[in-house]
Amino acid sequence: MQKFRKVIAVILVFSTLISSVTLFASAKEDCDCSTAPLIVVSGFATVPLYLDEGTDAEEKVWAPQSKLIVNAVLKLIFPIVGLCLTGNWTKFTDTLCEQVMSVFKNSLCDVNGNSVHNVRVRKYPLSADNHSDFYLSDNKDEQAFVMTAVYTLPQGHTYFFSYDWRLDPMDNSKDLADFVEKVKSKTGHDKVVLAGCSMGGAITLSYLSQFGSDDVRSVILDNSAFQGTTLVGELLNLEFAFDKETIIDYILQFIGAGEGFEAFLKKLLTKTHIVDSLIRFAEKVIDNTEDGLSEKVLYPVFAYMPGMWTLVCDADYEKAKENSLDKEINKELIKKIDTYHYNVQQKAKEILSDAKENGCNIAVIASYDTLGVPITASYKANNDMLIDTTLASGGAVVADIGDTLPDDYTQATDCGHNHISADRVIDASTCMFPEYTWFVKDMLHLDFPYGSEAVQFLMWLVQADEQYTVRTNEKYPQFMYYTYADKTLNPLK
Ligand SMILES: [Zn+2]
Ligand SMILES: [Zn+2]
Repeated sequence: MQKFRKVIAVILVFSTLISSVTLFASAKEDCDCSTAPLIVVSGFATVPLYLDEGTDAEEKVWAPQSKLIVNAVLKLIFPIVGLCLTGNWTKFTDTLCEQVMSVFKNSLCDVNGNSVHNVRVRKYPLSADNHSDFYLSDNKDEQAFVMTAVYTLPQGHTYFFSYDWRLDPMDNSKDLADFVEKVKSKTGHDKVVLAGCSMGGAITLSYLSQFGSDDVRSVILDNSAFQGTTLVGELLNLEFAFDKETIIDYILQFIGAGEGFEAFLKKLLTKTHIVDSLIRFAEKVIDNTEDGLSEKVLYPVFAYMPGMWTLVCDADYEKAKENSLDKEINKELIKKIDTYHYNVQQKAKEILSDAKENGCNIAVIASYDTLGVPITASYKANNDMLIDTTLASGGAVVADIGDTLPDDYTQATDCGHNHISADRVIDASTCMFPEYTWFVKDMLHLDFPYGSEAVQFLMWLVQADEQYTVRTNEKYPQFMYYTYADKTLNPLK
């Protein structure tokens, strides 16, 4: 009997061992499909930040809650009356700063660029089909990208990576490296596709700079901030500028009225002096409050977030750093942002070329023909709404909004192909990768709406098994235009 029990025990132990080995092996089993899993790397503030995430005390800190904003505005009513009566800007500015700070208090970073509070971003660790709460929350941007991929790629081959965008991109990309490892082992593929959306482009480049491209089949930079923007640097440099005509066009751009009504509105806004008065008012407020606001709010809130510095382009970087940070007090923070700026943003071409050399496919997508936020010096620059086309494309020569390249302009680099757009707005020959850079006219920043032909273009790039160029598919040449009304994407002719 004793012997029999022993035999049973031995058999049990063995069978448990064997079954666990098979279980282990099945998790690691290679997937024999040819579609590398996709990781969509989130842009700035797509996913909310929470204080004490996952506990009973959980509270949303970004985007700031509307009750905080309403509260702050209400608390400014008396001070505004006081300002009108006394003209005392100093007193008003102090209260204004206090109230603005009350809105951002939970999302602050310290002088070294670390979060002051216990703030976390919502994470999506499983394959995206398990996170419909995320992709059903919008029908454009990262959500549309992820949702389309969930329905297009094999089951369990789509992932979404979120991160605390305030923090050091070099640290965030270490988390991305862990995520890539997990996706590889869960899907049984040895390479992934990284699609860096907006700020996600900066995280993707940081990842490549630290971990190389051995695990990456393709890199897609989608309206990405891998070269920064002019908006953020110019704001930190307090380079405000207002132009009446541009502001009117900007307002009309968002009303989306029919052509006749738009012309009428434009005439009305131009003839009456509403916009002039608004500009004069804004200039007066800025003149009287910018010193206080920048020292007490703009710098300690935004310049202390290392992630914000990925959005500053090279041309503005040194001056913005000089203006908004202190060499001694912010020494650690400066070390972080310099590491990103000098080793990643400035070396982007090198990093991507190395990846290319290593067999990784590259695709850069930039949109144009939309005004950016028209409050800083670069208000005329061609933009996708937030990122300048010349920066998102990695160096195209781009005419200002509404303009074309001069009549006598000829392509800057002659590579044997035409790289000038048919509307003569863009010369792509100066891009880091002129053969792998696509432009979409009239597509707003990152939109690529769900159900549109444009998001199918993204899927085409995601599933590329070789380096596609602007000549691979006649449906997707270097220059295309998007029409919102019928969701079509067409070659620009
Ligand atoms: Zn597969
Ligand atoms: Zn060429």
